[in-house]
Amino acid sequence: MNIRLLGSAAAEGFPAIFCRCKHCEKAKRLGGKNIRTRTSALIDDNLKIDFPPDTFMHVLRAGDAISEFEHLIVTHTHHDHFYPEDIRMRTPNFAKNYGDVLNIYGNERVVQRCNDIFENESESFNIIPFQSFTTYEVGGKLITPLPADHKPDENSFIYFIEKNGETCLYGHDSGVYPEETFNWLSKRVLDVAIMDCTNGLKDEKTIHMNIEAVKEMKTKFVKMGMLHEKSKVVATHFSHNSGLLHNDLESLLVPFGIDVAYDGMEIKI
Ligand SMILES: [Zn+2]
Ligand SMILES: [Zn+2]
Ligand SMILES: [Zn+2]
Repeated sequence: MNIRLLGSAAAEGFPAIFCRCKHCEKAKRLGGKNIRTRTSALIDDNLKIDFPPDTFMHVLRAGDAISEFEHLIVTHTHHDHFYPEDIRMRTPNFAKNYGDVLNIYGNERVVQRCNDIFENESESFNIIPFQSFTTYEVGGKLITPLPADHKPDENSFIYFIEKNGETCLYGHDSGVYPEETFNWLSKRVLDVAIMDCTNGLKDEKTIHMNIEAVKEMKTKFVKMGMLHEKSKVVATHFSHNSGLLHNDLESLLVPFGIDVAYDGMEIKI
């Protein structure tokens, strides 16, 4: 499995769109891995997770290949993960030679928004509702949506993804995982676990995780035998409110065997 992290920021981006705080100014000055767009991942080129407003930017950066996915799975409807107005740009009025119908999978709110926005273009999309703890075959992979601790007014998901015995937990947005989710995961082995680190050093582990929570989750994974020596644990979805630049995050996480995501990071299993 090949996993490309196209973005690594929380909702406002880093530097944040309208912010002039010292951390955003420093990120602009330093550039490189400190410039973070909104999160999304591409797996084996045919499966995309989430569709942020920065998708256009991701295509400009990485080339047409990243817009050729056939399947889009959505975690939840916060705008930094789901921007269906731009998915409409795949319909014949806006795009030529763009390939087949796009399959979009997600919770009841995702389905509702798709039905509203694609009302007159339904032939361009297959909209498939997902239920938590049910395993679906999507693009040659097995996908299981699991409940997240994130958006109380909808069933936010994290995803367990499996292909030929290779496994990835796409574990954000979420605070410390709900017990039922952790129990389900505890029977699995994770080759890659990608987790939410929005809150940095702030004392807040619900809705989003902080550094301490990511470390605690990793410790629990180890205790339950869910990781092996080549497993990778990756923190992502960083906010400028944490005040932590890429090097700061590395010095806080790498000593604990946790990698710090950046835009364009590739993870191979
Ligand atoms: Zn988010
Ligand atoms: Zn800022
Ligand atoms: Zn969110």
